[in-house]
Amino acid sequence: MNNQLSYWEKTSFFNFDIIIVGSGIVGLNAAIHLKTSSPKLKIAILERGFLPSGASTKNAGFACFGSISELIEQESICGTDALAKLIEKRWKGLLKLRGILSDDKIDYKQLGGYELFKAEDKILSTDCVVKIEHYNNLIQSIIGPEAFKVNNSKIKAFGFKNINNVIENRFEAQIDTGKMMFALIQYAQQQGISIFNNCEVQEILTDENKPFVKTKQGNFRGEKVIVVTNAFVNNLIPGLDVTPGRGQVLVTKPIKNLKIAGTFHYDKGYYYFRNINDRILLGGGRNLDFKTEQTTELGLTSKVQDALYNLLKEVILPETDFEIDYQWSGIMAFGNNLEPIITQPKPNVFCAVRCNGMGVAMGSQTGEDVAELVLKS
Ligand SMILES: Cc1cc2nc3c(=O)[nH]c(=O)nc-3n(C[C@H](O)[C@H](O)[C@H](O)COP(=O)(O)OP(=O)(O)OC[C@H]3O[C@@H](n4cnc5c(N)ncnc54)[C@H](O)[C@@H]3O)c2cc1C
Repeated sequence: MNNQLSYWEKTSFFNFDIIIVGSGIVGLNAAIHLKTSSPKLKIAILERGFLPSGASTKNAGFACFGSISELIEQESICGTDALAKLIEKRWKGLLKLRGILSDDKIDYKQLGGYELFKAEDKILSTDCVVKIEHYNNLIQSIIGPEAFKVNNSKIKAFGFKNINNVIENRFEAQIDTGKMMFALIQYAQQQGISIFNNCEVQEILTDENKPFVKTKQGNFRGEKVIVVTNAFVNNLIPGLDVTPGRGQVLVTKPIKNLKIAGTFHYDKGYYYFRNINDRILLGGGRNLDFKTEQTTELGLTSKVQDALYNLLKEVILPETDFEIDYQWSGIMAFGNNLEPIITQPKPNVFCAVRCNGMGVAMGSQTGEDVAELVLKS
């Protein structure tokens, strides 16, 4: 605890109406919704990293609402009506994000999404093709007609090897994650929201029925606290159904005459890749070693990175020389249910976490939902 704070610092920088813990997509959107609904609120976001340090600046930038194999799996768990609601939530979340920031600022490009099937995936690909009509009907009124179709001509057009079937989703798009987060932070600051970086919350305590949060820099007081730390939530609010999952990613150096354009899902979505400025971004492979990847620690392993490299060499860029330029990891939050957890665990303490690897689509809506919970409380 820093007890050398000046009177001025203590009285002006540590007392807020709302304190938000975590400056990922959800935290920023919660703050923005609160401030737009109630402009007089004094809001602070406390972020442990120099930059947001979870998933929001580390992701692949897919603006997606579900590939067919994922929709089948989810429908078997939650039923058709709940699935339709989930798709609607994802789609509305994307519209919200685009509405706040504009397509230009986040490089939103609707280049289409593709689910790829290998020869060994014959049963899965047949199941998925059979379901195309069902899902086109289900999402017609939410997004638009004829979202999915078989499009095997793309195998040759994109130069893939060892791929037998392709299902295209014409509504899927991609964004520039860095530009999106930069714009979101700028937008929040323009609204008068304070963001404090390198400020890790160690504990949430209560004093005379009001919460305050303990950090190395001092205790911040707020009428309400919102915890949006995603995979790290159990450090502050134990017992929630949140399991961390590390996602490893690589990006190639620019490739001359790159033919591949769009967002791609491979091996039931365990791998994903896309084009970005003449490069390929590829991530995934958690399923090779679930136990090791179930961690909140950033890091790379040769098992996953080698698998990503081999996938590039054998399937994605079989006829093209490439070099790796970037490698990184980020931490996602998973649970048994694909719905995020939006709850009030204690008086005046709220929480919104677990976008299940879909936060680009779900983050804005999830932030807004927890903000509404706070406003109604
Ligand atoms: C490799 C990878 C690829 C992905 N690809 C996609 C994709 O293509 N499309 C998609 O929709 N989604 C994707 N996701 C998921 C998406 O990025 C997340 O769902 C989303 O960013 C979650 O946002 P959030 O605000 O809930 O959490 P986060 O972005 O994780 O934010 C939580 C923040 O809380 C901070 N924090 C944690 N503990 C504390 C503390 N004690 N005190 C202060 N701050 C703290 C963290 O530093 C972090 O910045 C991907 C994720 C990863 C990792």
